[in-house]
Amino acid sequence: MKQIDTQKPVLVTGGSGYIASWIIKYLLEEGYTVHTTVRDLAKKEKYAHLQSIANSSQGTLKVFAADLLEKDSFLSAMQGCELIMHTASPFFVLGVKDAEKQLLQPAKDGTGNVLETAKQVESVGRVVLTSSCAAIYGDNADVRSTPNNVFTEEYWNTSSSASNNPYAYSKTIAEKEAWKIAETQNRWDLLVINPAFVLGPSLTKRTDSTSIKTMLQLADGTYRFGTPELWFGVTDVRDVARAHILAGFTPEAKGRHIITSDSVMILDIASILAEKFGHKYPFPQHRLPYFLLWLFAPLLGFSQNYIKNNIGVPIHFDNSYTKKDLGLEFRKVSDTVIDHFQQILDDGLLRRR
Ligand code: NAP
Repeated sequence: MKQIDTQKPVLVTGGSGYIASWIIKYLLEEGYTVHTTVRDLAKKEKYAHLQSIANSSQGTLKVFAADLLEKDSFLSAMQGCELIMHTASPFFVLGVKDAEKQLLQPAKDGTGNVLETAKQVESVGRVVLTSSCAAIYGDNADVRSTPNNVFTEEYWNTSSSASNNPYAYSKTIAEKEAWKIAETQNRWDLLVINPAFVLGPSLTKRTDSTSIKTMLQLADGTYRFGTPELWFGVTDVRDVARAHILAGFTPEAKGRHIITSDSVMILDIASILAEKFGHKYPFPQHRLPYFLLWLFAPLLGFSQNYIKNNIGVPIHFDNSYTKKDLGLEFRKVSDTVIDHFQQILDDGLLRRR
């Protein structure tokens, strides 16, 4: 059981990110001192939004430079911190050219660097790691190895590899590395947050985050011929951020935490958006037939094996442990996607494309 001192600074790695920005916003609004890291301090536009949140809230923000691939890079940012939230990790699933360099090394070695540094810094008492449901399952067909077609925190992704679903593999090996390092010491405990696919309003106008790109694609005609019958878990970015904070400051909390409000398909999200915003935008309305997907899989950047193991296979997640351990209440998917699309409209992101 770890009681974290609320007067000490909290380190959130990767402050420019979609999820980290919400964590930092909540912490600053609650009056904490936040240390965060970005790769390049000179790229001020990547963290200007955090600076302006800090200016209008009670908390204090200090920004440090750190790269996941540089050993000891996080040492100065970690000084004096009792709570570390390690969110930084590359997140993209399409267009992977060199999985080892682009995904596996920064995820696993980066986690290794941050946690090895936490072993050196005496003030550290707890580490909250942003893992993913991708560390719980790789292909939807993995659900068939569960007793009730439901994933729980007990499961680990055993079907992904460097060549099959490398992003999911990167999250799996990074989380395993974290648990391994945590066992080599006893000053801090490790808590893990395993979000499903994250949607919800972004605090910046950046469009290079995979979550943001996906929401934009729903209204830019990408799916005009239809959408695949692919089930996935969805969660709200604000709930993910809140989960990190609850994990950090709930003394008795422990273990892995599935963060998902429901399982949906792209078409379900499109229906929610069409009902709210009408058909002014080309929200998809049809499912792509399985045989077409199977046929054109390689052209779309997927293997036929991926289609076989994922399309048309419903999956479900059990979030009851998270509700109990963290006391987290989940937003409805409809609120998440409506708020997200409204932010996209308010920020003029569709017109600019
Ligand atoms: P994001 O907006 O793309 O943020 C990723 C962050 O990681 C950025 O701050 C990025 O910095 C940083 N980063 C990447 N490579 C780095 C490196 N070599 N050194 C230092 N920093 C590096 O993605 P996100 O959605 O917020 O994801 C944050 C975390 O949540 C990741 O661990 C991701 O795997 C996990 N997650 C995300 C989802 C989701 O659906 N969004 C679901 C489950 C888990 P730059 O700004 O410099 O690129």
